[in-house]
Amino acid sequence: MKALVLSGPGGIRHLRVQELPEPDPPSPGEVMVRIEAMALNRLDLFVAEGLPGIRYSYPHIVGSDGAGTVHQVGAGVEGFRPGDRVMINPTLSCGHCPACSAGEHSVCDEVRVLGEHLSGTAAELIVVPAENLAQVPPEMSWPQAAAFSLATLTAWRMLTTRARLESGETVLIWGIGGGVALASLQVARLLGGRTIVTSGDDGKLDAARKLGADHAINYTRSDVAQEVRSLTDGRGADVVVDSVGEQTWKATLRSLRRGGRLVVCGATSGPIVPLDLRRLFWHQWSFLGSTLGSRREYAEIVKLAGEGKLWPVIDTVLPLSRAVEAYQRMMAGQQVGKIVLEVAE
Ligand code: ZN
Repeated sequence: MKALVLSGPGGIRHLRVQELPEPDPPSPGEVMVRIEAMALNRLDLFVAEGLPGIRYSYPHIVGSDGAGTVHQVGAGVEGFRPGDRVMINPTLSCGHCPACSAGEHSVCDEVRVLGEHLSGTAAELIVVPAENLAQVPPEMSWPQAAAFSLATLTAWRMLTTRARLESGETVLIWGIGGGVALASLQVARLLGGRTIVTSGDDGKLDAARKLGADHAINYTRSDVAQEVRSLTDGRGADVVVDSVGEQTWKATLRSLRRGGRLVVCGATSGPIVPLDLRRLFWHQWSFLGSTLGSRREYAEIVKLAGEGKLWPVIDTVLPLSRAVEAYQRMMAGQQVGKIVLEVAE
């Protein structure tokens, strides 16, 4: 089968499309999926660079997001039949540790992610546990289905389970354009939040306004914290979604109201930030980490997708042979929405 792989550590120059043996048939509880399309995430860039603590065997099949048709079903699998259109939740959990037993699968002691710890979705065939699959809504295209899971799940968990955004609250979302930020905008709107987004690119800010952002701030021209204060009668945002890290940290704290919640799912500009603990306790802030989501949260977003809500924004669809170009587009941060690669011919 054809697959997009990293042939070694050290960046995207090691990306190539190559023939690999097909995976073994599905074990009990597993399903083999014939992938139609996969979507890139920032995680794919980190995997290409090499992640601390993870040792890959090369060639490593990349990709966390994907969608396709059920090809073969293992023993005991109910609810899926060959030919079903499915999308894949990339979070694999053990199912029996205390976190899993409590329904918190993304906090599982042994959580693993397709493409990060395991072979990924950028291959013609993949075998995954049936519990990681969901039926694709009938009107949803392959690129949309492929782009749905990781970003939407991440945004959903951040703003519901973690930050508990309430209707009428103000949420500041840094760096609109990426998949998680756009999904956060959609989720925040769905929950009745008032949204403020930022970018250094006016085109992205226009796109966000068209998607319903209430306020869009260009951080190259404006002091974001000051703007947020003036939009909230001096109080600050109830919730801040920050996956940028070092570059935005100071402005994030200056934008957060007393008692506000900061939720973090990434640190693209760098992970180390200073913190004056006196500000933390005096302002009674909550700092919340978040990553991926549980099976219950995945079922919730799949249901919303079935109702026509929370469909991902697609930036570009390219054939697998143009994967390097797709990775470069994401590295340059040029995209508005998800970058999708067609895996099937
Ligand atoms: Zn577990």
